[in-house]
Amino acid sequence: MLSDFLQLGISKDINNSLKSYGITKPTKIQELTIPPILQGKEIIAQAQTGTGKTLAFLLPILEKIDVASSEIQALILTPTRELAQQIAKEAKKLIENLDGVNILSIYGGQDVAHQLKKLKGAQHIVVATPGRLLDHIRRESVDLSTVQTLILDEADQMLHMGFLPEVENIIFETMSTRQTLLFSATMPSEIRKLANKYMNNPETIQVVTKRI
Ligand code: ADP
Ligand code: MG
Repeated sequence: MLSDFLQLGISKDINNSLKSYGITKPTKIQELTIPPILQGKEIIAQAQTGTGKTLAFLLPILEKIDVASSEIQALILTPTRELAQQIAKEAKKLIENLDGVNILSIYGGQDVAHQLKKLKGAQHIVVATPGRLLDHIRRESVDLSTVQTLILDEADQMLHMGFLPEVENIIFETMSTRQTLLFSATMPSEIRKLANKYMNNPETIQVVTKRI
């Protein structure tokens, strides 16, 4: 029998939010990744596009946020503006009924003055494209030293788009004891190299979907 989100360790509040928009059963990748992420393990998750990788990392992150603190606790790096917007939208939908979690998206093409203003306030989760986030690091307008969970989303796309130097520079800004999670549809050798360099004994979780 497939488990539900509560059995995976997701709280009632978030489970209710999910239910309110029709999500009741975890996908395979969610079932396999949510428990180890909640336990603090580092994971490399590989599953095809459209298998629900976004919620696989968003749900456990939302469980971990301490709203009493105003620090950035989780950072999600993703290759494109569209993905950053989508992830932030999905996360905001989930926390509609929860108090106090702030999520900020940062991507190129967005007004810098607006981003600077938002960065002065309390933000718990930042969803960003690497280029624009690195601009903020250079301006010293963002402090990533408090990031406890770092997510490299669509890692294969990020590397294909040439973001490796930016991603590495950003990783150096976070604390060395962070939990790093890597999500990707494919696993080229560059990703293995990145994982070997920056992750601590990660567990690989792969969901192979049969082609019809
Ligand atoms: P991926 O990152 O693996 O390509 P997404 O996280 O973007 O996939 O998810 C694809 C779609 O599936 C989204 O519209 C999302 O809302 C939906 N989805 C995710 N998890 C579930 C679930 N457990 N049940 C039903 N729909 C889901
Ligand atoms: Mg995705």
